[in-house]
Amino acid sequence: MKAICSDRVFIEGKIISAAILFKNGIITDIVQTQLAPKDCVDYGNLMIIPGLVDTHVHINEPGRTDWEGFNTATQAAAAGGITTVIDMPLNCIPVTTTLEAVKVKKTCLANQIWVDIGFHGGVIPDNENELLPMMDTGVNSFKAFMIDSGIDEFPASDTATLDNAMPILAKGNATLLVHAELDSSTSKFIPKDNASYQEFLVSRPDDWEVNAITEIIRLSKKHNCKVHIVHLSSAQAIKLIQQAQDIGIRITAETCPHYLTLSSDSIPDGDGRFKCCPPIRDDNNQNDLWIGLEDGTIDFIVSDHSPCTPALKKLEEHNLWEAWGGISSLQFGLSLIWTAIQKRDYGIKHLVKWMCERPAHLVNLENIKGKIAKGYQADFVIWNPEAKHTIDKKDILHKSKLSAYEQHTVYGVVEQTILRGEVIYDRKIENFKSKPIGEYLV
Ligand SMILES: [Zn+2]
Repeated sequence: MKAICSDRVFIEGKIISAAILFKNGIITDIVQTQLAPKDCVDYGNLMIIPGLVDTHVHINEPGRTDWEGFNTATQAAAAGGITTVIDMPLNCIPVTTTLEAVKVKKTCLANQIWVDIGFHGGVIPDNENELLPMMDTGVNSFKAFMIDSGIDEFPASDTATLDNAMPILAKGNATLLVHAELDSSTSKFIPKDNASYQEFLVSRPDDWEVNAITEIIRLSKKHNCKVHIVHLSSAQAIKLIQQAQDIGIRITAETCPHYLTLSSDSIPDGDGRFKCCPPIRDDNNQNDLWIGLEDGTIDFIVSDHSPCTPALKKLEEHNLWEAWGGISSLQFGLSLIWTAIQKRDYGIKHLVKWMCERPAHLVNLENIKGKIAKGYQADFVIWNPEAKHTIDKKDILHKSKLSAYEQHTVYGVVEQTILRGEVIYDRKIENFKSKPIGEYLV
């Protein structure tokens, strides 16, 4: 394949009829359809947008491959129109906090990755000497927790740890990614009812996010280090972020489909599929997150795909306190957000900005990924935005078949996904027939 065309191609903020020409996986020209070469593949009225970039995915390989792995996660990504994923430094074993762990993880990629992959590194107490060696391999973003991560191998970073790490990251122009919850409670929360979602919500209040973000803004200013708030849930923190941005502090934030499409007002009790940290809050909070996206304070939307084995969700026990936290949505983000966007009078340009262009920026891929333009990689989603489908267990390609979105009916069906000029997923024929062609991005 050397060229594709359609009546609806997203170019420079608009939907137009166009043909995209590419060679060796790179876009070489965009022309009017009547000037397309003879062998151009015509997709008719299907829409063509850039491949999505998801910078927040927990693949868990090596070490916890019964939770998720490169093969299944990247197939789910491809089926969802995502052509680039960046893997989090946990919950794999070893966690990606050393140069050695980066090397080990790289060895797991062979013949397994259906989309392009990059890694985030991790900051934990006493690993500051590993940061530069990891940066030398191309890793340019590092995640830290300000609260218990749930995994013993990835302890929380206190102020002293961040004071050690941030100057090193700042020097290399790397970004500190922060799980921003700071437990400021004076006593341990004991639930009256282990199944109650409202009690779980009360146990992780907005204050925890606000306090953590206040502290991280202070540290960013002190060390002149770029920071990025992962999975922002509390809209109460938006103003703080905005004020910091206004005075030149380099802080960005992301949120996720679950905070934008689900609400604590309707989450059933005892259903671990809906548990994540920070928690999903109420309708008003959700509205304010959309406003934060619209005004640009929140930069983009990524999945925080964080699966585990079904047993760990404690569904039979109806125990939210013991359930592993994490929502699996890698495959469905495009449809979920597209469906929500239409209810709120946003459009395709918002979706492309929030799910393609801006996340590419976080990991310094903004000149090759996330846009249909000359010189960019030929990564595309060919999809039908008007078609509806119901999310069903049998269609889920990631390893654990549980999802908070089962039986949700959504708009947007991905017909094909193209990575660097090659079809990697086709809904109509046997989905994944050829060899995986994903590459490790450095
Ligand atoms: Zn995460």
